[in-house]
Amino acid sequence: MRTESFEAGEMKNRRFISGIMALLAAFLILNLLAGYFYFIIPGGVYVTVHIVLEFASIIIAMMVSLMSWYQFRYKGELRSLLLSATFLLVGLADFAHSLSYAGMPDFISTNTVHKASTLWILARLIQSVGILASVCAGKKACNTKRAGLILFLSAVLGGLIVYGITAYVHYLPPMYDAANKVQTPLKVGLEYFVIGVLAAGVVIVLRKEKKESSDFYLAAALVAGVACEVAFTLYSSAYDGYNLLGHIYKIISFGFMLKALVDEAVAGIYRANEELEKKSSELSEMNRQLRMADGIKNNFLANTNHELKTPLSAIVAFTELIMDEENTGRLSDLQRDYLKEIRGSSLELHGKIKGLLELSGILGGKVVLHQEPVWLNEFLHEVAGSLEKAFREKGVTLSMDCEGDLKVFADRGKLSGILTNLLDNALKFTDTGGAVEVRALCEKQEACISVSDTGVGIDERQREQIFEMFYQVDGASTRKYGGTGIGLTLAARLAEMHGGRIDLESQLGRGSRFTLVLPLIIPEEVL
Ligand code: ADP
Repeated sequence: MRTESFEAGEMKNRRFISGIMALLAAFLILNLLAGYFYFIIPGGVYVTVHIVLEFASIIIAMMVSLMSWYQFRYKGELRSLLLSATFLLVGLADFAHSLSYAGMPDFISTNTVHKASTLWILARLIQSVGILASVCAGKKACNTKRAGLILFLSAVLGGLIVYGITAYVHYLPPMYDAANKVQTPLKVGLEYFVIGVLAAGVVIVLRKEKKESSDFYLAAALVAGVACEVAFTLYSSAYDGYNLLGHIYKIISFGFMLKALVDEAVAGIYRANEELEKKSSELSEMNRQLRMADGIKNNFLANTNHELKTPLSAIVAFTELIMDEENTGRLSDLQRDYLKEIRGSSLELHGKIKGLLELSGILGGKVVLHQEPVWLNEFLHEVAGSLEKAFREKGVTLSMDCEGDLKVFADRGKLSGILTNLLDNALKFTDTGGAVEVRALCEKQEACISVSDTGVGIDERQREQIFEMFYQVDGASTRKYGGTGIGLTLAARLAEMHGGRIDLESQLGRGSRFTLVLPLIIPEEVL
């Protein structure tokens, strides 16, 4: 397998290199043809052609700069920032070059071939060195927060240099020998330098082990750049075929550069999309497994609870039978105390199992509500009445304030379960001497039944979690207050089944208010 993929990689690599070589050969052959069919275009025509070609290349250079900038913003890689700055400066220098061309109206200083050539070679130097630096930077990260400022300052500096050269070009060494109609050795030498830098870039890209499709266009852009510079070492008139070909190669080179960037961006989008699709299918698989596990858990809860309830009922019944001294004979005080403990704990466990059973029924969708109109005033007094003794024993006051004519459509048993749980908790978490108040009122056509206490309160971070199954605020609370952590889960689910909810306000150390909100039966709807 590994050998096969290695061979496939080699093949790809060979095709990549031969593609680039073929491109270079084609460009160089065209250069030869330009020499073979040497021609000079009339000045009036060429100046127009030149400005059109230059402006096209400037527009593409700006697009490359912008695209690289966005890539930098997205990926934070140094090479993109370098490329963005390079092409911004190249655009600037080429703009000055196109306006300085011999035959164009004077731009800042008198236009000559020397002036246009100086600005041309400046642009090519920036272009070749900038691209090489960006190729060498690879995928190195650049975390500067001042990237925008760097780009702006390089544009300002570039603008000043371009202005300086344009205004004082006659002080610079000559690039064109107008008398002999040839380029000076300095100009040709600089062109060779640019060719060398671009060729080094091509070699680096070709030597890359893992080549992407964008690398092919990057190498092609560099090769077109080389061909362009070769043409510029050969021209003798600013209007000849070499000059025309050189400008065309420059546009091709910039076009390849843009294509490389677009390819990279599009490949990035596809890669991100593929990754997303993979993650999404992984998530749905996890979801399926979770649902399965949830189903197994619900079944387990329902079955286990059934299995526990029966022997527990037997324990309670037989404990009560033993405690009936008329039938079983006299018990010592210690025996009676122990039996009382057994009965109390068994009944408590029985209650918890009942809660779990109910919850597993709700989670499994097996609980059906038997709803009927319920007058709240009377109903709440009934529920509170059943707990009055426990409140009195603990020394917590229980008060009631209920609007007279509130009516909801509810399952009496389940509604009583919700409110009993809220009241039980209020009592459990309120110390002796505290107070609990039940209030029922109508708000925005909803019945709001609140149970407020002056107890321990609940920390803000835990207010949502306490509605989760088996959640208790802390382990110590379980030991101190008892409980299983399912009461509120059950209450919240039952409230939802009634089309309502439970809201919570609380202040740590000062108390809590749980409000059961239910849809109200408004008078017109009364059955
Ligand atoms: P438990 O059986 O533990 O009472 P619940 O689901 O009814 O289970 O409550 C979950 C947790 O929410 C409790 O353990 C407690 O930490 C917190 N809690 C519930 N009601 C109150 C309240 N009135 N005051 C303070 N904390 C409360």
